[in-house]
Amino acid sequence: MKKGYFGQWGGAFIPEVLHQTFAELNAAYEAARADASFWQEYVDLMANYSGRPTPLTFAENLSNQLGGARIYIKREDLNHTGAHKANNVMGQGLLVRRMGKKRVIAETGAGQHGVATATMAARFGFACTIYMGEEDVARQRPNVFWMEKLGATVIPVKDGSRTLKDAINEAFRDWVASMDTTHYVLGTACGPHPFPEMVAWFQSIIGQEARRQIIEQRGAMPDRVYACVGGGSNAMGIFQGFLDQSGVELVGVEAGGKGLDTGKHASRMLSDRAAAGVAQGYKTKFLQDSDGQMLDTHSISAGLDYVGISPILADLGEKGRVRFEAATDDEVLAALQLTMKTEGIIPALESSHAFAQAIKEAPTMSREQAIIINMSGRGDKDIFTIAHAFNDPSWKEFIIGRAEEYRTK
Ligand SMILES: *Cc1c(COP(=O)(O)O)cnc(C)c1O
Repeated sequence: MKKGYFGQWGGAFIPEVLHQTFAELNAAYEAARADASFWQEYVDLMANYSGRPTPLTFAENLSNQLGGARIYIKREDLNHTGAHKANNVMGQGLLVRRMGKKRVIAETGAGQHGVATATMAARFGFACTIYMGEEDVARQRPNVFWMEKLGATVIPVKDGSRTLKDAINEAFRDWVASMDTTHYVLGTACGPHPFPEMVAWFQSIIGQEARRQIIEQRGAMPDRVYACVGGGSNAMGIFQGFLDQSGVELVGVEAGGKGLDTGKHASRMLSDRAAAGVAQGYKTKFLQDSDGQMLDTHSISAGLDYVGISPILADLGEKGRVRFEAATDDEVLAALQLTMKTEGIIPALESSHAFAQAIKEAPTMSREQAIIINMSGRGDKDIFTIAHAFNDPSWKEFIIGRAEEYRTK
């Protein structure tokens, strides 16, 4: 198999001027991968800075209420900055330090990857520039505020639809002009080789821990593992712990939005509007129209509405090793409410997609079976969206009251 390809997917479609930079990055990544002390340094950093290993929590109440499989939750929400994104950015931070570069750039959509990258840059003492669509800058002010306070420069991108894909293009433009000093911290297991493989490698710490923990707690492998799929990094992270176990079914859950038949979703693996394409430096299934124009996506969760998908997952899906499902916005909100009330745990809207599918399937399984849900992040960040969706009147009053205060003082 050609390097950087997973079946027919992947590759590195990059401009000539970046060839040298990618050669350097590939060399640094491969050297790090071959060096056991690098992984140990990474594990130590994540232990001391991000609270790893994250727990595997047996959700006893939720399991009893559903009356089927025993449900375990892998708690990536307990990472520093509240999600699995820390695993990737801190790993790349160590690599940047090894390469002797002093500046990092990143794209961000909802702002979660931007905040994680700005956090990493502050910790390592790197200069940091974050590209973000102008539309997203307006919608995600709290994250923009934190990025700036953490010392990053946030550049609103005014091109195109002024969202994530435009931010990615602008970040690549910056990189072409700054590659001697700068590393591009890509946020998920997508993009040109080596990013999909490298990001999946850093995230594999989730699966390594989960495999050890479920054996310790249960004495056996789980029957199924669920993860939500945006770009695919948290899913690849946990799936890698179980890929060699053919008895463990792997389930990837995409954003079903308002329903697959409405066009308002982000399902690349189940929708007939997804087709092979080359964009943003790699080949995968993109949601596109018959002219190859990228479609607008929709999800209640900001982190799952991406037009492409990890080439590694596109391949695993095609081979039947990963089963893909989609959860709708309404199913996601119901799963979130049930998890909060039964377990006292608030999953991110993204993670709630994995919960929604698991909650659908657990009752059809036996008490002797077990499943793991990868909880990619915590839901605190989603308070604006969740309170709005639940139409909470006192929340509305609170926001209006705050606005009044600003107007009058
Ligand atoms: C960004 C994000 C995702 C989606 O990204 P993947 O690369 O698919 O993991 C999922 N959950 C949370 C909490 C996120 O912040």
